[in-house]
Amino acid sequence: MVQDFNIAVFPGDGIGHEVTPAAETVLAAAAARCGFGLNWNHLQGGAACWRETGHEIPPSDLKTAGAADAIFLAAMGLPEVRHPDGREITPQISIRFHFDLYAGVRPVRPIPGVRPVLADPRAAKMDYVILRESTEGLFAPAAKGSATADEARETMLITRKVSEKLFDFAFRMAEARKAAGHPGKVTCVDKANVFAAFWYFREIFHERAKAFPAITADGAYVDAFAMTMAQKPGAIDVAVTENMFGDILSDLGAALMGGMGYAPSADIGDEHAVFQPCHGTAPDIAGKGLANPTAMILSGAMMLEWLAERQGAPEAACAGGLIRRAVDMAFAGGDLVTCELGGDAGIEAVKTAVLAALERLDV
Ligand code: ATP
Repeated sequence: MVQDFNIAVFPGDGIGHEVTPAAETVLAAAAARCGFGLNWNHLQGGAACWRETGHEIPPSDLKTAGAADAIFLAAMGLPEVRHPDGREITPQISIRFHFDLYAGVRPVRPIPGVRPVLADPRAAKMDYVILRESTEGLFAPAAKGSATADEARETMLITRKVSEKLFDFAFRMAEARKAAGHPGKVTCVDKANVFAAFWYFREIFHERAKAFPAITADGAYVDAFAMTMAQKPGAIDVAVTENMFGDILSDLGAALMGGMGYAPSADIGDEHAVFQPCHGTAPDIAGKGLANPTAMILSGAMMLEWLAERQGAPEAACAGGLIRRAVDMAFAGGDLVTCELGGDAGIEAVKTAVLAALERLDV
């Protein structure tokens, strides 16, 4: 039976307030074409919210988000709003701990028609996923660092429980991608040659690999892997890594796609999921209408596809696929150039082009 979905929305701060309405308009149009509706529930959260209320996300809004079918989050944080020790307000990170969203899915695929960042023609084959563990590693709340006048320390936490779930998620993703024509390979990206925690991480990876004999299990050190991303991106299928490495590598992946405004992501757990672009609040361009909403729109497509799988709703998969095809069609001519690549196509131009493409496509 066709159903409507209840979506908790956190516009957050900065350009979050601009990319959110654009993405909602595109998602609603795609949903209507595929015969269902989306109910948006706008919630508070972010650095401005913390400054005004003392809460990164008010507890009642967090509870409402937990009851929604999915959570759609734009960007949070403002450089001038900080805790007394200098840390920024980062509810977009805390929410991953709160809902146990251990699997950070960051697809890296250039959109045809967006000017390639890498000149090597082999870069056209770039189509992979960085899977970033999102609840522990160097970001683990249980491993908070300390600083005195003489020294500062940070701790990295890797647990067997989360690592096993993360690797199983990676291998299942590679299986699904293999069925769609990808190589069927998972690369564990770490620094196992130097750190005991990463040796432990990699051993668990190889243990779990035995349960997925049809998938190739590969390993790479993070420094060499960064080079592979630039030199041989066609060799990567699914890359699974620790939180901090994933944070850094997925920004590199975004840059290789054309800029932060092109890179979507999902943070997925066993019960909940948050869909948000890889970018931050971009204070340098906020309020000017210049932001590229593509990452937010594509994060919405990922949300619809997750809802389709989780709730057995093929119409949501239809809408997710329609959005992807519309984004590809909007950029295909090469004349929609966003500010990351020196153009002036901002929120309105991209939204209008994607909506026009969406109307032209068959469902
Ligand atoms: P965070 O610390 O929250 O991850 P960040 O420090 O990585 O954020 P961003 O806010 O993502 O920084 O901005 C990095 C650069 O990318 C800035 O120059 C910003 O203007 C640009 N940028 C980010 N998002 C977009 C977007 N949607 N469209 C165009 N440019 C963007």
